Amino acid sequence: MRVHDSLIDMVGNTPLVRLKKITEALGPNAPTILAKIEYFNPGGSVKDRIALRMVEAAEKSGALKPGGTIVEPTSGNTGIGLAMIAQEKGYRCVFVCPDKVGPDKLSVLRAYGAEVVVCPTTVAPEHPESYYSVSDRLASEISGAWKPNQYENMNNPESHYHDTGPEIWEQTDGRLTHFVAGIGTGGTISGTGRYLKEASEGRVKIVGADPEGSVYSGGSGRPYLVEGVGEDIWPGTYDTSVCDDIIAVSDKESFLMTRRLAKEEALLVGGSCGLAVEAALRVAKDADPDDVIVVLLPDGGRGYLGKIFNDEWMADYGFLSAHTEESTAGDVL
Ligand code: PMP
Repeated sequence: MRVHDSLIDMVGNTPLVRLKKITEALGPNAPTILAKIEYFNPGGSVKDRIALRMVEAAEKSGALKPGGTIVEPTSGNTGIGLAMIAQEKGYRCVFVCPDKVGPDKLSVLRAYGAEVVVCPTTVAPEHPESYYSVSDRLASEISGAWKPNQYENMNNPESHYHDTGPEIWEQTDGRLTHFVAGIGTGGTISGTGRYLKEASEGRVKIVGADPEGSVYSGGSGRPYLVEGVGEDIWPGTYDTSVCDDIIAVSDKESFLMTRRLAKEEALLVGGSCGLAVEAALRVAKDADPDDVIVVLLPDGGRGYLGKIFNDEWMADYGFLSAHTEESTAGDVL
């Protein structure tokens, strides 16, 4: 029988898929663009990789003991990865989320058996009810609690150095010339980028994709809508020496490209994927025909149906007008 004993065995080893229609506009001399599709991970995102490595390292060091509790301020993909792994390994999970997080995201975490504490977004970080204060308090009050802290935990970039980077190198027979990824904690680009630089003796160019306004592309952290990428702080997990270039992409460009990926490539993926592919296309415009650009797509699109894939939501923010080619208003005819 061909059986997996645990979902944990299925983290990583995600496929590389050639983008075809999206690159057509670049003409016959377009370089190859290959997408690393991270929604094939069992928890549905790239974050399963770091969740697994952070938990296993904490088990090894003794920071997380049998029957212990994982406490983390997260509402997104890291929470799902941690909850899935915690359930498989028998740990309790308590996640602290700000009240701006939508009910569907909280339901996903609860569905995996995690407990979710919701905190007001409107209070200052030092307020005792803030997202930060509550997660610190819970981590110190709950006996056997361990806080992964994905923004400072070096097992985050290490997971990409040991897995994502070697996978891409082997899948392309070392022929890739560029690696493009969005930057959130910076774990993906720092770990994968460092591995690919070492393996290629500096030949592979590492390009970060960042929402306009975020610190990585010189902004102050001005709010943007694309989720999972961009920062208003500099996390310890981001290696400032690894990127050769950083490309800033607007919300509108990110979301329109996300919709094109679903319609033209049958890739139903999240907004940070559109951001990364938009950056990859800009890299492709200046690349040689035999260059091979790998772009990492962090998660699937189901979590964004009410936003990016909703015409009204897009129109409310001015990302889609009733008369654009993108509008689907006439599709029912
Ligand atoms: N996109 C999404 C949807 C994410 O959840 C994350 C993780 N924050 C990223 C991109 C960025 O990855 P990293 O934290 O490794 O920089």
